[in-house]
Amino acid sequence: MDSLALTPLQKAAIGGFLEILSMSAPASASYVEMMRCYALCGWNTTVFKDTAARYKFAKGTGALVDAMVRDGGFDVMTNSPVTTVNQHADGITVQTANGDIHHGRLGVITVPMNVMNSVAFNPPLSPIKREAADVKHAGGGSKVFFVVKGDPGPVMTLARSADSALIGSFTYHRGEHQSLLAGFSLEPDALDKSVEEWQAIFNDYLPDLQIIRTFGHPWGTDPLCQGSWCNYRPGTVTRFAEALPLTEGKLFFASGDHGDGWRGFMEGAIASGSQTAMAVLKTLNGG
Ligand SMILES: Cc1cc2nc3c(=O)[nH]c(=O)nc-3n(C[C@H](O)[C@H](O)[C@H](O)COP(=O)(O)OP(=O)(O)OC[C@H]3O[C@@H](n4cnc5c(N)ncnc54)[C@H](O)[C@@H]3O)c2cc1C
Repeated sequence: MDSLALTPLQKAAIGGFLEILSMSAPASASYVEMMRCYALCGWNTTVFKDTAARYKFAKGTGALVDAMVRDGGFDVMTNSPVTTVNQHADGITVQTANGDIHHGRLGVITVPMNVMNSVAFNPPLSPIKREAADVKHAGGGSKVFFVVKGDPGPVMTLARSADSALIGSFTYHRGEHQSLLAGFSLEPDALDKSVEEWQAIFNDYLPDLQIIRTFGHPWGTDPLCQGSWCNYRPGTVTRFAEALPLTEGKLFFASGDHGDGWRGFMEGAIASGSQTAMAVLKTLNGG
């Protein structure tokens, strides 16, 4: 960006957008990752915004998970974090935190790369997978939702983190009496800021907006994800993207953190899951 002769408005708009895309300060984000997302949209910013932010599940993301569970017909155990994965000559065993042990012929590891090292693998995972889990992807920050009075219309704000605690926000749901805005921040205390603090920040952009309350989930400190969406750090893209999906013994790896194309998005998770399912089927059929 420094090499481009941008106006202050262009700097704020492009800089804010890239920081939302990587959920990190520019120095931590890989340039290749930013270009990957634009390339996937034919280098077209409008298509990118449509792709990344315009369309939502009518009944929320949980509806997708429920549909997948119905379609698969498999058992689901929640609140059962896996602590250990052992490989044996005849299969694998998986132990959960409450001591339950499950057996399988093969395993598919779907935990995010940032938490991979919180599971004990015997034998240990390859050094490069462990390195990726140590280095972690750059996606941090907070997605903060703002319940506001009335209908602000279709609004969007953008700023660089060097200039504002709010790197971006946009209308998420419009209602006559109350509406919802989704906002993004790289400030460590973003979820703890009071309504008054956020109101003062929004006053710079949308002085008529009246915030009623805010909410969000601390993805960065949640032990089951330890980050937000995946964007590799500078200098790691080729090595991690190639190594993370590789099968190790009886373990397959499927994750949005190393999906082809839309890595870091649900689409990437579905691509990786589909490819892995085909590979597992082939192996089970002796292929
Ligand atoms: C705030 C936020 C907003 C996002 N917005 C969008 C968006 O608008 N569009 C989009 O396409 N993508 C979005 N993403 C990214 C998208 O959610 C991910 O890319 C996608 O969910 C990755 O799917 P996954 O199955 O690989 O991993 P996940 O969905 O992270 O699933 C991994 C699962 O593993 C579980 N787990 C972790 N450790 C253990 C363990 N030890 N034992 C058992 N289970 C474990 C976790 O609880 C989790 O359920 C967003 C992400 C965040 C955090």
